[in-house]
Amino acid sequence: MAKNHCLAKSINDASWYQFRIWFEYFGKVFGKVTVAVNPQYTSQECSSCGAIVKKTLSTRTQVCQCGCLMDRDFNAARNILSRGLATVGHTGSFALDASNALGDESSTFAGEILHQQVMS
Ligand SMILES: [Zn+2]
Repeated sequence: MAKNHCLAKSINDASWYQFRIWFEYFGKVFGKVTVAVNPQYTSQECSSCGAIVKKTLSTRTQVCQCGCLMDRDFNAARNILSRGLATVGHTGSFALDASNALGDESSTFAGEILHQQVMS
């Protein structure tokens, strides 16, 4: 049905909408912040300087005049993260998640007693 020219856009729109509903649902279930961002130019915009670097789909590397050189998907991911964090308005949620992923919750701070660490 997606190959039907008349229905393809509606089917794709419905699929992305369903994906977003599921994504937001699991975000709530697992206590994670989900943010929808505008995907326009995320793969062409330089994540370092913001310049638009035109490229075809077969070009897999982001090469910008500012010296930025990285995989195009990694560049797009940085832009998406930046837009998401700008929408949230702060970086507290991301910083909290990053510290949890690195196991910083169980690290010992200077002057902290070990049994207090376990209790917190
Ligand atoms: Zn650049």
